[in-house]
Amino acid sequence: MPTPKGLSVSGVCKNFQSGGRNIQALDNISLSLPAGKIGVLLGPSGCGKSTLLRMVAGLERPSEGEIVLSDRAVDQPGRDRGMVFQDYTSFPWLSVRENVAYGLKINGDRSALNEGTVDHFIRAVGLERFADAYPHQLSGGMRQRVAIARTLANYPELLLMDEPFGALDPETRWQMQDLLLNVVRKERTTVLVVSHDIEEALYLGDVVFFLSRHPGRLKETISTDFKTTLPENDREAFLQSDDYRRLELHIRRLMRDEGRNAA
Ligand code: ADP
Ligand code: MG
Repeated sequence: MPTPKGLSVSGVCKNFQSGGRNIQALDNISLSLPAGKIGVLLGPSGCGKSTLLRMVAGLERPSEGEIVLSDRAVDQPGRDRGMVFQDYTSFPWLSVRENVAYGLKINGDRSALNEGTVDHFIRAVGLERFADAYPHQLSGGMRQRVAIARTLANYPELLLMDEPFGALDPETRWQMQDLLLNVVRKERTTVLVVSHDIEEALYLGDVVFFLSRHPGRLKETISTDFKTTLPENDREAFLQSDDYRRLELHIRRLMRDEGRNAA
């Protein structure tokens, strides 16, 4: 049988040594994310979301267990994965166009095709009028669009995002969520995104992985199949649906239980 495409995390544990103490950040995490789907890592602060994402990025090694993307074991950063951080700022001395082209250049890909790729992604994030602007001339949301365009221009198989919209005001965050959904659906990119916001997790995710804390364990895997019956990009219909309300309440309770356990 061929290896299924997508991300597979099996039995992953992570311990940190800090000040002579052993901190067990993650315990026996197993999850899989099929190609082309959006997975959200959701959970209270300190449950190990960023640690898990960094391990998938190859920036950190698991203490135990294995991470596989398509048929390749992940043990270091690679071009098949692209990462967008919350406060990921573009290079201030490069224009929007140069920022988006940057990743292609460091990867030694200077073909004529690149011009088309750069323009395609600048358009995809709606920055064509700002292609020659510099980051300081842009709002926070626009800068985050530059980061997304730059990462997607490398056509990663898996897009990794750590609370990418956490620093934005609510209105901009909603716009960015829709923009992200549109662009990754079109490009068929697989996405793993960290969030601590229930609405964002359910709005973005095809599947939500809820982690409990200390140590981080996968408590529940929540599918959002109900969204397939709703109109796309219609936040009101989404928020008003019975399924959303039920899941939102359910996850709120999970969060509350985590708070109690911590206290
Ligand atoms: P989250 O992103 O869910 O808020 P993190 O992944 O940042 O959580 O952290 C999970 C746990 O691991 C926390 O207890 C944190 O203090 C600990 N931790 C994370 N990185 C390190 C590190 N480099 N050294 C020691 N402890 C760490
Ligand atoms: Mg974090």
